[in-house]
Amino acid sequence: MATNRTFTMIKPDAVENGHIGAILEKITAAGFRIVAMKYTQLSRRDAELFYEIHKERPFFDELVTFMSRGPIVAAILEKDNAVEDFRTLIGATNPAEAAEGTIRKLFATSIGENAVHGSDSDENAAIEGAFHFSGREIF
Ligand code: ATP
Ligand code: MG
Repeated sequence: MATNRTFTMIKPDAVENGHIGAILEKITAAGFRIVAMKYTQLSRRDAELFYEIHKERPFFDELVTFMSRGPIVAAILEKDNAVEDFRTLIGATNPAEAAEGTIRKLFATSIGENAVHGSDSDENAAIEGAFHFSGREIF
């Protein structure tokens, strides 16, 4: 199910730095169709739940503080091979290791403040999309 969809967030650093438009342009130019999108802010609780898989990691508190400090853009994207192709488009977690031309290479500032999120599996794409959107917000 839903193997052609992924979920993304434009993170607070990229919003603060004025990169929403440029990032959406990269996403649509790469062939992704926006099927759901909203401008919103995560509460600390939302961020803790969203990144629960990382709760034992040393950077968890920093991650939750960062992800809840300002607005984000959340979106569900559609394209063949969406999860894998979107991870390629955004580049490595650490922008210092991200390939030329990737969104993180262009817009991220550090491994923690790395501009965008991309789901890592079809299963998580569905869970993360449902975390942010109801059925009537998906087109
Ligand atoms: P995301 O899930 O946000 O798309 P990712 O899958 O590339 O990123 P994960 O390993 O899932 O990377 O880490 C989730 C997020 O936690 C990273 O995007 C980054 O914001 C933060 N993070 C990861 N590693 C570190 C670290 N060593 N120090 C600080 N923050 C980190
Ligand atoms: Mg991840």
